[in-house]
Amino acid sequence: MQGLVLISRAADFAARCHAGQRRKGASREPYLNHLAEVAHLLAMATDGADAALVAAGWLHDTIEDTDVSREQLAELFGDDVAVLVVEVSDDKTLPKAERKRLQIAHAPHLSARARMIKLADKISNLRSLLVSPPDDWERDRLIDYLDWAERVAAGCQGVNPALESLFRKTAARTRDVL
Ligand code: ZN
Repeated sequence: MQGLVLISRAADFAARCHAGQRRKGASREPYLNHLAEVAHLLAMATDGADAALVAAGWLHDTIEDTDVSREQLAELFGDDVAVLVVEVSDDKTLPKAERKRLQIAHAPHLSARARMIKLADKISNLRSLLVSPPDDWERDRLIDYLDWAERVAAGCQGVNPALESLFRKTAARTRDVL
């Protein structure tokens, strides 16, 4: 599929899948803003050279947070995109603490492109914590999240200097504010 068509199809599909979902932050941003940010970070970090990666950025939370299956993604977007989304999806049958532990353990074993999605995802999540933290999160919980995100990001090094440096800057800024 031609790159622009693949990406716009992914954006359209993600908008439908996540319709009505909002971020946990106090400003209740549409969830779609997060997906747009992740896709854009990936496009910038790769200088627009990897359409499948940008499409996977739009779709990275569909398996985890909506009813979409790997088979459906493969049919609509091809195996390359479907495999990337599977790689960055938690197993929702596991308890949350175990899923978080596994993200740290799995990060160094992910493909380079999946690690880039993880970095872009964590950058976007930290940015939204900075701008609009969830109302019910105390400072300790925010610090725990930041510590955890840094451990996941530590396993995602060596794949993209632009994303790695942006993550470090965002994490440092978050730590300053907390
Ligand atoms: Zn995400």
